Amino acid sequence: MNFQELKNQIQSKIFGEVALNYPLSQHTSFKIGGDADLYVCPNNLMELITTVELCKQADAPYFLLGAGSNLLISDKGIRSVVIKLGDGFDYAHAKGDYILAGAGVSLAKLSAEAKNAELTGLEFASGIPGSLGGAIYMNAGAYGGEMKDVITEVSYIDDDGTVKTVAGCDCDFGYRESIFNKGNKIIISAKLTLNKGNKEEILATMRDLNARRKEKQPLEYPSAGSTFRRPEGYFAGALIESSGLKGTRIGGAEVSEKHAGFIINADNATAKDVCDLIAHVQKVVKEKHGVDLEPEVKIIGEE
Ligand SMILES: Cc1cc2nc3c(=O)[nH]c(=O)nc-3n(C[C@H](O)[C@H](O)[C@H](O)COP(=O)(O)OP(=O)(O)OC[C@H]3O[C@@H](n4cnc5c(N)ncnc54)[C@H](O)[C@@H]3O)c2cc1C
Repeated sequence: MNFQELKNQIQSKIFGEVALNYPLSQHTSFKIGGDADLYVCPNNLMELITTVELCKQADAPYFLLGAGSNLLISDKGIRSVVIKLGDGFDYAHAKGDYILAGAGVSLAKLSAEAKNAELTGLEFASGIPGSLGGAIYMNAGAYGGEMKDVITEVSYIDDDGTVKTVAGCDCDFGYRESIFNKGNKIIISAKLTLNKGNKEEILATMRDLNARRKEKQPLEYPSAGSTFRRPEGYFAGALIESSGLKGTRIGGAEVSEKHAGFIINADNATAKDVCDLIAHVQKVVKEKHGVDLEPEVKIIGEE
């Protein structure tokens, strides 16, 4: 793949940033990850469509990077085009009981918009450090709420490059999954339907949930949140803690002392450190409890 040529082609058609050998660690909450061969940040839908078309013509694989809060990118990086949605996707407009928002908006900003419009139902998401696109892809959830409860429509670029819209009820939302996990769809915007509420109460709930996060989660360290999916009938953190793994370190990666469900980047961890620690935790938990832990964190890039 001649990424230099593709870079020139994309650069001649869009105003957004286009860069070769772009370091991704700055775009992940783990602060880990090698370079992307080519990084493109389209500013708006037309630029995104153009980027996808040019990638397809060049037969170049592309990967959509959200806020990078559920990713472990390998130390060698990603051998493809990494697309990050630019400013034109960072919006949220409330009208009546719904909000139209771009896929690049942060859940914090989106929840604030809901609160300001006196709309309740999105408080659960205000402390999740992802983008709307990543949250829909993952069907992110917390404190009893999930994206599936509020998403009523999603617009996306399908694998064939065309823009489509799907109703929320047809997104096949499940535990940390959706139809967007299959193929290479790019979520561009969504409609969220909420309920009229009281601004003070919404704010109080958001503050309470965020205080609970701060108290329980190691937010002072880089991480990608819960490392493992919740195994049926168990909690990953409790299994890891009762296996005596809290504080276990490999290189700079550590099972958090504060919350065993989180692997943190305690001291310049590499992706390999984190992967080795994940494998160690899986092995010990299997031996002690007979339970298989599956990573929730998406591990991507060249091995
Ligand atoms: C401290 C901390 C706490 C967390 N707490 C929670 C929590 O309570 N609940 C929870 O569910 N998660 C939690 N997470 C994990 C993470 O924030 C969520 O999974 C979030 O939804 C990921 O969104 P993102 O934009 O960061 O996606 P990324 O991590 O960038 O990407 C995740 C996946 O989504 C895809 N994707 C992203 N944007 C798009 C798009 N526009 N179109 C198509 N695909 C896209 C990516 O290709 C990738 O496969 C936490 C993480 C951290 C660091």
